[in-house]
Amino acid sequence: MNDDRQYDVVIIGGGPAGLAAGVYAARGRRKTVLLEKGVIGGQIALTELVENYPGIKSINGFDLAQEMMQQAESYGMETAYVEVSGIEQTGDLWTVRTSDGDYTAKAVIMTAGADYNKLGIPGEEELIGKGVSYCATCDAAFFKEMETIVVGGGDAALEEAIFTTRYANKVTLVHRRDELRGSAILQERAFANDKIDFKWDTVVTDVLGDEHVTGVKLKDVKTGEESEMATSAVFIFIGQHPNTDFMGDLVPMDKGQHIVVDEWMRTPQPGFFAAGDVRQNSARQVASSVGDGVTAAIAAEHYIGEKFPDAELHSAEDDAHLGGPRAQAMREKADEALPRA
Ligand SMILES: Cc1cc2nc3c(=O)[nH]c(=O)nc-3n(C[C@H](O)[C@H](O)[C@H](O)COP(=O)(O)OP(=O)(O)OC[C@H]3O[C@@H](n4cnc5c(N)ncnc54)[C@H](O)[C@@H]3O)c2cc1C
Repeated sequence: MNDDRQYDVVIIGGGPAGLAAGVYAARGRRKTVLLEKGVIGGQIALTELVENYPGIKSINGFDLAQEMMQQAESYGMETAYVEVSGIEQTGDLWTVRTSDGDYTAKAVIMTAGADYNKLGIPGEEELIGKGVSYCATCDAAFFKEMETIVVGGGDAALEEAIFTTRYANKVTLVHRRDELRGSAILQERAFANDKIDFKWDTVVTDVLGDEHVTGVKLKDVKTGEESEMATSAVFIFIGQHPNTDFMGDLVPMDKGQHIVVDEWMRTPQPGFFAAGDVRQNSARQVASSVGDGVTAAIAAEHYIGEKFPDAELHSAEDDAHLGGPRAQAMREKADEALPRA
């Protein structure tokens, strides 16, 4: 194994959780690499506008992710564009298998996020962020006093339909069956909400619009009858799957394949942490994922400090970005305070 593939911290996934973990791990002077199979930013890279990240009133999702990556890299985090295919424990270390060879790590932070199930219909992919959304909490506010539709019949669809009525004039819940799957209490609330209409036994077959969603094509699954309906937004809640398929049975997961962690983002496997949408009970937001990533990085730092007390800190000379006199003084102070192997 090349020395240059041996890291203190390997982060799997470059969404908000992974990038936040990267800022903290690298800033803690741990040799850190973030492995990303696609686009930095994860789900947020698809988002036109993020308006609920504290401290930033409004920002394009891709730009927010780039800022996070540049911040982490400025502290020495490396980024490798590879796909992780497996993880194994080798003694006290972890081996992370990728499309471009193996990496070893003292600690692994798993932030591979989740993908929303898609309808797979014409117009859906093209209009994501332009009226097609998988997160009403994120996007409902953009549709104030407009008409929207919600697709699905489970708890997520009901919760998000109810939330969307805070902004929209009317919400039509389109469901392919003639009864809902969601919990009784949410069904009661949805039925009692006079802004919500229901379209039963119906599927959406096309999302219409060029620059923005203008409508949908619908099909009655019992009669086969087709129709069109004008709408400004289509919120789709037909399930979500975390990106944990390559993990085998390494750590406990819930029935939806989300990783079970404690409040420090620790799994029962020492040195293996999980954060963001990939974990059980995530709030599935940028801010909550960032918080998780930070927590996991701090927990990983504690773990490495205890388990590998002689581990060298990442060489200050590598931090070429920290060139100013203030940074130099801070480094000297830190070097005095931190015992070196
Ligand atoms: C359209 C849309 C709009 C949204 N808008 C908002 C909003 O306005 N505000 C808000 O707070 N939240 C919003 N969200 C939710 C928010 O984006 C997510 O909660 C957040 O991105 C989760 O961060 P994460 O880092 O846990 O995972 P993700 O963002 O899912 O990132 C995971 C990363 O891991 C990578 N990965 C997966 N598997 C592998 C592998 N095997 N090897 C290497 N890399 C891998 C993926 O490519 C991805 O880049 C939105 C979500 C969507 C889909």
